[in-house]
Amino acid sequence: MATVQALVSDVLGGHRLTEAEAELLLSARGRDVWQVTAAADKMRERRAGDIVTYVRNQNLHVTNICKNLCGFCGFGRKATDGGAYCHDRAGIQAQARLAHGRHVTEICLLSGVHPGFTLDSYIDMLHWIHEVAPGVHIHAFSPDEVAHVAQKGHIPTTEVIARLREEGLGTIQGTAAEILVDSVRKVICPRKVSTADWVRIIKEAHRTGLHSTATIMYGSYETARDQAVHLGVLRNIQDETHGFTELVTLPFVHTNTPLYQQGIARAGPTGREDLLMIAVSRLFLDNFANIQLAWGKIGLKMTQLALLSGANDLAGTMFTDDVSGDAGASGSDYLDPADMERIVSDLGRTLRQRTTLYELV
Ligand code: SF4
Repeated sequence: MATVQALVSDVLGGHRLTEAEAELLLSARGRDVWQVTAAADKMRERRAGDIVTYVRNQNLHVTNICKNLCGFCGFGRKATDGGAYCHDRAGIQAQARLAHGRHVTEICLLSGVHPGFTLDSYIDMLHWIHEVAPGVHIHAFSPDEVAHVAQKGHIPTTEVIARLREEGLGTIQGTAAEILVDSVRKVICPRKVSTADWVRIIKEAHRTGLHSTATIMYGSYETARDQAVHLGVLRNIQDETHGFTELVTLPFVHTNTPLYQQGIARAGPTGREDLLMIAVSRLFLDNFANIQLAWGKIGLKMTQLALLSGANDLAGTMFTDDVSGDAGASGSDYLDPADMERIVSDLGRTLRQRTTLYELV
C-alpha cells in the first residue's frame, strides 16, 4: 500500500486517485494530515488561483413540513408537530422582497419536502419570487423534490425538470445526496431517492442545460470508504456531463438530530476530518474547479484553515439558515463580506463576489 507522502506526490504529478487511495488519504493521522492539506492547497492554486469567491445570496424557507423525516435532520417536521409551518404566497414574497432589498443575486430555497406539494406548487413559487425579485437567480429543488412531484403527478422526471427550467429555475440543488451509498442511505435517509435515482435525475438536469451543485454530508454514520465511494460517484457524473458548478462540503450537525440522540450517528466530524474532507475532495475531484466550505457549520477560524486546505469558495452570505440552526449549529445565519475579507486577506488571498455560475461580479 502506498504511503500518504508517495500518494500526494503522485497526485500532484497528474495521477488520478482511486477510491481506495482517497479512503487512505481520508484516514490520515498525525503529520500526514498536513501533507494532504498542503498538496490540496497546491492543487487549489493550480485550478482556482488565489481568488476566494462568495455569492450574495439568501435562503428562503418555504416549509419545514417534510415527508422524509431523515434521522440526521433537526429541521423537518410532521404537519401536526409543534413549530410546523408552511408559508403561502404572501410569506414567500415577503422573504423574497427582503432578499431583493439586500441586493442578493441568488435566492436559495431551503425547505422540507412537503407531502402536499406538486409540480404546480413549485412553479407557483418560482413565479411568486420572480414577481417581487426580478432578475434574481433561483437555486432550488433537489433530485428528491423532483422525484416527489414527478411521482405525485405521474409525469416523467425529465418533464418536471424541463418545466421548472422554462418557468424560471436557474440551477438545481445537488442536495439530498448526503452519502450516495444505499446501505448508508437506508440508515440516515431511508425515504429519500436511491443512489441510482439521484444520479439519473441530476444527469437529466445537466442534460437539460441546468447546472447544479454537488454535495456531501459527512460525519454521521458513514465510513471513510463510503465517503470515497460517494466522491467517485460525483466524479463519474462530472466526467460525463460537466454540469456541477462546485462540491459543497456539509459536515453533519448532530445536536438535535434523532440519529445522534439514538446513538446511531457520531457527534459530527472532528476538525481533522473537516480539513481532510476539503483536501481529499480537491485532490480526488480533478474535474471540479470549485470546492466550497460551509462556514455556518465549521465556524470562521476553521473556515480560514479550510481555505488553506483546498477550498476556494466561501458559499454565500445566506442571511438565514434554519436547517443548520435547528440541528444545533450556532452563528450559521449571516456572514458579512467584511468578515470574509478579514480572513481572506489575512491569508494573502483576494476576495471576490461571484454569481451562482461563478462569473466574477
Ligand atoms: S434533510 Fe431535508 S428531506 Fe430530510 S427531513 Fe430534513 S428537510 Fe426533510
